[in-house]
Formats: sequence, C-alpha cells, structure tokens
Amino acid sequence: MADVDQTPTARAPSPIGRRVSGRALLASCLVLAFAESVWFVLGLTGSPEPAAVGWIAAPVAMAMCAATLFRTAGMPGIGIAGRRFWRQLGVGCVFMLASVIVQAIGALEKPGHVALPANTPRVAVVGYLVAVLIPFWALIRLPGTAQTVQARLRLALDSSTVAIGGGLFVYYFFFAGSNDRSGGSGFWGQFVVGLLAMAVLATLTKILLSGAGPIDPGALRALALCMLIGGLSPALFQITNHHPQLAPPQLTDAFIATAVIYGCLRQQRAPRRAPSVRTDRERPRTWLPYLAVVATDALLLVGIFQPDDDRQIVVAVCAVAVTLLVVTRQLAAMHENEGLLAQLREQREILRHRVTHDALTTLANRDLFRERTEQELAAGADEARTAVLLIDLDDFKAVNDTLGHSVGDQLLVAVAARLRECVRPFDVVARLGGDEFAILLAGVDRSGIDGIVDRVLASFSRAIVVESHSLLVRASVGVAVADERDETGDLLRNADIAMYAAKAGGKGRHAYYSTGMHAELLERSELAAQLQEAIDHGQLRLVFQPVVRLPGGSPIGVEALVRWQHPARGLLAPGAFIPTAEQTGLIVPLGRWVMVEACHQLGQWRRDLGEAAPKAVGVNVAAPQLRQPGYAADVLSIIAAAGLTPDDILLEVTETAVVEGGSTFDALRELRTAGVRIGLDDFGTGQSSLGLLRECPVDVLKLDKSFVEHVAENREQAAIAEAVLHIAQALGLAAVAEGVESEAQAGRLYDIGYRFAQGFHFARPVPPAQIPDYFGADRGADGLRPRH
Ligand code: C2E
Ligand code: CA
Ligand code: CA
Repeated sequence: MADVDQTPTARAPSPIGRRVSGRALLASCLVLAFAESVWFVLGLTGSPEPAAVGWIAAPVAMAMCAATLFRTAGMPGIGIAGRRFWRQLGVGCVFMLASVIVQAIGALEKPGHVALPANTPRVAVVGYLVAVLIPFWALIRLPGTAQTVQARLRLALDSSTVAIGGGLFVYYFFFAGSNDRSGGSGFWGQFVVGLLAMAVLATLTKILLSGAGPIDPGALRALALCMLIGGLSPALFQITNHHPQLAPPQLTDAFIATAVIYGCLRQQRAPRRAPSVRTDRERPRTWLPYLAVVATDALLLVGIFQPDDDRQIVVAVCAVAVTLLVVTRQLAAMHENEGLLAQLREQREILRHRVTHDALTTLANRDLFRERTEQELAAGADEARTAVLLIDLDDFKAVNDTLGHSVGDQLLVAVAARLRECVRPFDVVARLGGDEFAILLAGVDRSGIDGIVDRVLASFSRAIVVESHSLLVRASVGVAVADERDETGDLLRNADIAMYAAKAGGKGRHAYYSTGMHAELLERSELAAQLQEAIDHGQLRLVFQPVVRLPGGSPIGVEALVRWQHPARGLLAPGAFIPTAEQTGLIVPLGRWVMVEACHQLGQWRRDLGEAAPKAVGVNVAAPQLRQPGYAADVLSIIAAAGLTPDDILLEVTETAVVEGGSTFDALRELRTAGVRIGLDDFGTGQSSLGLLRECPVDVLKLDKSFVEHVAENREQAAIAEAVLHIAQALGLAAVAEGVESEAQAGRLYDIGYRFAQGFHFARPVPPAQIPDYFGADRGADGLRPRH
C-alpha cells in the first residue's frame, strides 16, 4: 500500500474529477463575469439598487480563483518551480480578494463617492499593489528559456522598453490631466495604477519573449490575457470618474478570475513534460518593443503641436529613455552577433576538419587526398612532378583477428605517425580506409620518390610495440608518377594497380606503375569472369597423382589436382588460374567442387576396386576457404554424403595459408577433431614453419619439391631434407617427399629415412579412369617402379 501512496495519482484526486470541478468553477466564473457586465452597463444609466449586489461577483470570483490556483500548485508532477509559481499567484489572488472586500466595504459605507480612485482606502491600495507585485515577481522568477547572460540582458532591455513605452501611453491618455494631480490618495491611486500598467507590460513582454519554462504555454497565454485585462482596467477610471457609484474591479475582477481559472485548467491538463529548452537560434520575436518606440515617438511628435502641454516633459524623458534602451539593445545585439559569427566560423572549421580527416589517425581522408591531388595536378609546374604512393599493410587482417580491433587501431595510428616521419612537412599523408594509406608527393624527381619509398619501407622494418605486443608489419607500396595526361583518378588507380603488382611479387615490396600492369589487371579480371563460367559450366577436371611407399613404390593414396579444360586455351594447370581464384574469392566455390569431386571419386574406386582402392585422397585447400564460416561442417557433410569417413581425407594446406591463425586454426582443429587428417604442404618454403607446428594441428609434412630437386648431389639440400624428417619424427608426423623425378632422388630420400614419396618418377597426375591401372588388384603390392 505504501508504495501505491507514493505515486502521484494516488495522492491527487482523479484527473477527471478535477477537470469536472475545474470546469464547473470556470463556468460559474463566466456567469459571474456576465452578470457583472450587465450590472456595470445598468450602472452607466442609473444607480441600480441595492449597491451591494454590484460587489458580489468580484470577491466570489477572486475566491474561486484563489482556490483553483492553490489546487493547481498542489498538483503532482509540475515540479518545484511550477508549484512555487502557482502558489505565489494564489497568494497574490488572496491579496486581491482582501483588497476588493475592503474597497467594497468602503464603497458601501460612503455610497456614491468611494469608487473614485482618489477615494480608494489606502489599505486596499496597498493590497492591490502587493497583489500585483506578487504575480509580477512570480513571473520574473520563472526559469524562462533565457539561459545566457546576453539573452537575459536582451530580455531585460526589451521588457523595459515596452514597460516605459506602454506606461507612458497609459499615463498620457488615462491619467495625466484627467484627474486631480495634487497628490494624496489621488496620487497614490495613480501611482499604483501606473505601476500596475508598467508591471503588466513588462511581464507580458517577458512571457512573450522568454517562454514559459515549467509553465504550460497555453496557461501562460491565459495569464497574459488576465494581465492585459488588469493592465487596461485603469482605463475604466475614465468612465467611473463620471459614474462614482461604479468601480473598475466590479467589471474586471470576474473576467480576470475567469482567465486565471482557464489558465489553471490548461496547466492541469498539460502533459507532464520536461521544461522545453529553447536554443538561442529559435529566439521568439515580438514587435512589442518596436511598438513602444513608435508609440513614444508618436507622442513626441504630437507634442510639437501642443507646446504648452505639461505632459511633454514626461514624454520627452520617456523618449530619451526608450532611445537609450534601444541603442543599448542594438549594441548588445551587434556584439552578440559578432560572437555568434566567430563561433560559427570556428564550428565550420571543426566540421570541415571532421569531414576531411580520418577520425582514428587524424590523417587526411580519401576526399581531401583527392582534392589535394587535383589541385597539385592543376597547378602542374613543368619540372615538378607529382607522385602518389599507395601503401597497403600486409596481413593486417591477421593482427585484427588475433589481437583484437583495439590493437589493430593502435597499430594504424602508429603506422600513420611513421609515415608522417617519412615525408616532408608539406606532403599529404592520407588514410584511404582500412589498412590503406596514401602519400601525395609534389615537386619531386625520380630519385626523390625513390628516397621516400625506401624510407617508407625501412620504417616498417622496425617493430611497432602496441600493448606489449611487438608487431612486425610489412607493407606493399605502389607508386604512380603523373604525366601530363593524368587525372586524379588515374593517378590513384595506377598507384593501386602498382600496389597489387607489388603484393603479387611477394610482400613488403614496392612497384612503380607501368602501362603493362593495367593490361595484366584487365586480363586477370577477364580470367576471373571466365573462371566463374568454368565453375558453373563444368569445365573443371580433376587429375590424381598417386602417393607411394618407399622403397618399393607401391601406391597407397592419391592427391587430387585441379585442371581447367579451357574452351580456347586447352587444358590449363592450376598455376594459371588458382592465384586469380584466390584473389577474387572464386577459390571458395572452386575448392568446394574439388572436395565434392575428390570424395565422389574415392567412393567410386572403393566400389570398383574394393581393398585395392587408394587408402586416402589428398585435397588442396586455400586460406579463403578455411576462413569461410561453417567450412568444417560443410566438408564433413560432403565426406559423409560420399559414403566416406573423415580419415579418408588428407587436407593439404600451405604454411602461408594457415600462418594467419584465428578462424583458420579453428576450422582445422574442428576438422581434425572429427578425424580428418591435415597435411602441411610445400613444407620449408613458408616463413614460420616451426612456430606454426606448435599451434597448428598437423598429421603429415610434405617436403617441398625444391628441396628434393638436388637432394641426390647437393649436401645442403640433403641436410634440409634430413632436418625436416627429424622434425616429423620428433613430432610423430608422417613425412612425404614431393617432386621425386629420378631413381637417384628416391634412393637418397629412402636412405635419409623417407618412407613416402610422390613424383613423376613414380606416376604423373592422371585422369581418374587411369587410377585403377596403378591400384588395380592385379598390380599387387609390387609397386610402380620397384627399386632394384
Ligand atoms: P602442390 O599441392 O604442391 O601439388 C603438387 C604439384 O607438383 C602438382 O602441380 C604436381 O603436378 C606437381 N608435381 C608432382 N610431381 C612432380 C615432379 O616430379 N616434378 C615436378 N616438377 N612437379 C611435380 P600442379 O598440378 O600444377 O599443381 C600446382 C599447385 O596448384 C599445387 O601444388 C597446389 O598448390 C595447387 N593446386 C592444385 N590443385 C588444387 C586445388 O584443387 N585447390 C587448390 N587450392 N590448389 C590446388
Ligand atoms: Ca598439395
Ligand atoms: Ca606441394
């Protein structure tokens, strides 16, 4: 129950009940106002009796008004400032009520005279004064939307202008000269009324200019209306002076109360929202201050024709005051505008920097780089030459994958700093995206370019330390030098082509763009398109090369090798298309086709040859395949679909394919856990053979054929072959020697300790139909080319 009590709705009467009673009050008040008006009009024509009736509506309406105000102040959810505001209005209303009662009693005691402003009891005058000052004070204190010193100053100046101009107007037309100006109560009456008018106008201006803060705007407008009625009510003295039985409050109070009650209802119905904050941009505007200036000036002009009018001194003083205020306001606005302009310029500068620079490294971005290159080429001095260097980090992805993006980001920042050190202060260094950087060199000759390229490459030879990781990244650099015809796009594109050529030639290198490169690139993309077709239209073939046991040469397994039956170029070896397939991602569907086909073949041989069939088939796999999510599961399902078991397959991966680790390792581990065997292909040619063996799950090492070529006559090669064998033995792995072309090589390898081999000496890769010739049961275990 306790926590229910804490909710605002539980404490307050139901909103519907509140609205109904509020509406009833509003309606009664309106009726009172109507009755009042009737009475007042009757009073203009005679002296309706009893006089007390004329004094009923005002206090009753004020009492209802005060009650509604306090109820609004007690409403939940309007905030401290809102509560204080409505409560203060309520207090003001109570003073109003008391004053009107005092005035009414006075009027009834001395019928026919007391209603003159001069005869209003002083207590009532003070009461009215307090009644006006309290809401005035409440409105001034409202946390409006003017938040800056300038906005407050602006507001104060505008409000004062309107107050003086409007006050002057009221004074000029309604008081001066129309009543006795000899002081006493008359003076007090005028003083109060003048103050009232000015306060009303100043407050109105504030409401219009500064907004409401926590108060509902509709409520504020209603309050403004009531202030306006109150402010204009002194004008009624012009009438009541001739009808002493009438007093202004008799007509106005019920209207004022109606407006206030309506405002309260608006506030009660307002959705509870956070006070709206108006930005300086959407400053509210009003013509009131200008109207005040025009009014003052008009009175000044009128004075020219009435030189004797003693009101003119007041008009002149007010005109000077208003002029001073307006000048101050203008000066302040000018000052403020200058500030705003400076701020705007600064913001534009920041914005421009943001859109032209890379957030991570603060280097120029691609757009700015392009722009600067264009400018440089347009300037095109004769001797001076322009060059673009495109720098792409090698294997950055591996860093990101294994060490995380935070390390990757820091690495990029460090690289950016190094690149900046390599160039002259006025050269543009940019990050084009990812791990791709560019440098724009202006006014350089070939040796200058060479110097900077060397410096860039050398800067990568020092390890970069990031979060205690010492990283040795390398980069491939493509260089394009402008000639007269070059446009920006060309220069950057040429550098890009050169960079690809540099990468293709091995990593950590640079290449200058040459015309042939473009043709090569085109050729490659054409080849890619054809390869896609080859995959789709069954132009791929598999050949199989037997793997044999030493010394006898009896075949035990096969390795599947892909061929492309090209419609125009004939049968293509993998060297002609596998690199392109890897670069374009086509290796993924191609490799899958190989896997399906190889498994299918082994299944077929099993059915045809039974026990004599190859024990296993080796399938070559490239890095992009291993990176595919779900690769391991896919392979296992292919194996199962062919009716094979995982250990029938030897997955051959190169060291370079697995060196990046990460998801590649995960795929290999998953496959190996399932029983698939893993072979490290071309062993010895990669970078980190030994380190890799520690982390990568492997069953077979395939000694690269470059170590076999001279193994028979070259001691060093024999030593390497022997070392590889020792590693395999130490780790409990099988070792296969590849590329065995002669009897001598086979013999030497056997002497070193190799028991498995593969090579033209035993068998060339052959179409699947010929495999039974090697494995057929009739060949027995005598081997292909028995060693004698
Ligand atoms: P690899 O995996 O090292 O395959 C052995 C390569 O050595 C084959 O060349 C084979 O024909 C050749 N070879 C076999 N014995 C001898 C020999 O006695 N002397 C010489 N000089 N060479 C011999 P191939 O078929 O041209 O394949 C080249 C490479 O292409 C393969 O090297 C492998 O890395 C890749 N490759 C072949 N098929 C596929 C495939 O289906 N997928 C992938 N990703 N790569 C493949
Ligand atoms: Ca292989
Ligand atoms: Ca190999």
